[in-house]
Amino acid sequence: MAIDPVCKMDVNEATAKFTSEYKGKTYYFCAPGCKKLFERDPEAYLKGE
Ligand SMILES: [Zn+2]
Repeated sequence: MAIDPVCKMDVNEATAKFTSEYKGKTYYFCAPGCKKLFERDPEAYLKGE
């Protein structure tokens, strides 16, 4: 399982419909809204990692 960096929900990579690539890494999202938020400001959601 991957973790949605926006809402911290578990996302199954195999069935994830919403993905985004950032700096060569693929991120998975539970919903289009999370993907949109992430793409608007990826660094804000990756800081805590
Ligand atoms: Zn989410």
